[in-house]
Amino acid sequence: MQKREMEEVIKTLIKQKHLYKNTALMEVQEHYKTPFHVLISCVLSLRTKDTTTGPAGERLFKLAQTPETMVKVDVKKIEKAIYPVGFYLTKAKNIKILCQQLIDNHKGEVPKTHEELLKLKNVGQKTASITMVYGHGIHEHIPVDIHVFRISNRLGFVKTENPDDTEDELKKIIPREYWRDLNDLLVQFGQNICVPVSPWCSKCPVRKLCPRVGVFRSR
Ligand code: SF4
Repeated sequence: MQKREMEEVIKTLIKQKHLYKNTALMEVQEHYKTPFHVLISCVLSLRTKDTTTGPAGERLFKLAQTPETMVKVDVKKIEKAIYPVGFYLTKAKNIKILCQQLIDNHKGEVPKTHEELLKLKNVGQKTASITMVYGHGIHEHIPVDIHVFRISNRLGFVKTENPDDTEDELKKIIPREYWRDLNDLLVQFGQNICVPVSPWCSKCPVRKLCPRVGVFRSR
């Protein structure tokens, strides 16, 4: 896809954004606004649907809002609060470990570098990038999850095999001014129109520009 067309796709999606329901992460940013909330919400969201992550995060943050208070909460209470997110038993334990790491190594603050974030329990490339961008407002990364990976390949922005390779490829071609918005935009779009199985190409606002790479069935 040409750079001009790519920008047209992104601008069109930005204009349509208000039509779709907010993602769980967008809700967290609106309601809580701290790097700690973004980090923990992202941990909860791994292998979990947004409709489950949002309410689980709300229940958890009613118990504690900082690393210092979270480590004092009994793990069973955390399990109960975050159920039924995927791997809730493991995540409950890991959230406590992660909070203790924040206290021991970062004075209870969420670190501001990708490298330090990656050393935390349960934090991978996507969680680290999301925390940098949406938690700290440091726009040096494009967080890539399964939606961003799928849609940027379908649209022909990149040709990649997995989400981890996709961030570097996107950074080479997407103008920096859009880095911040890209994850929110494509996750929201991927939950509403360009869904994993049988995307809604007939309703898609960028259908004319999309080569639909790898799409064999659509509605
Ligand atoms: S045309 Fe279809 S495959 Fe392309 S972005 Fe739209 S919904 Fe996705």
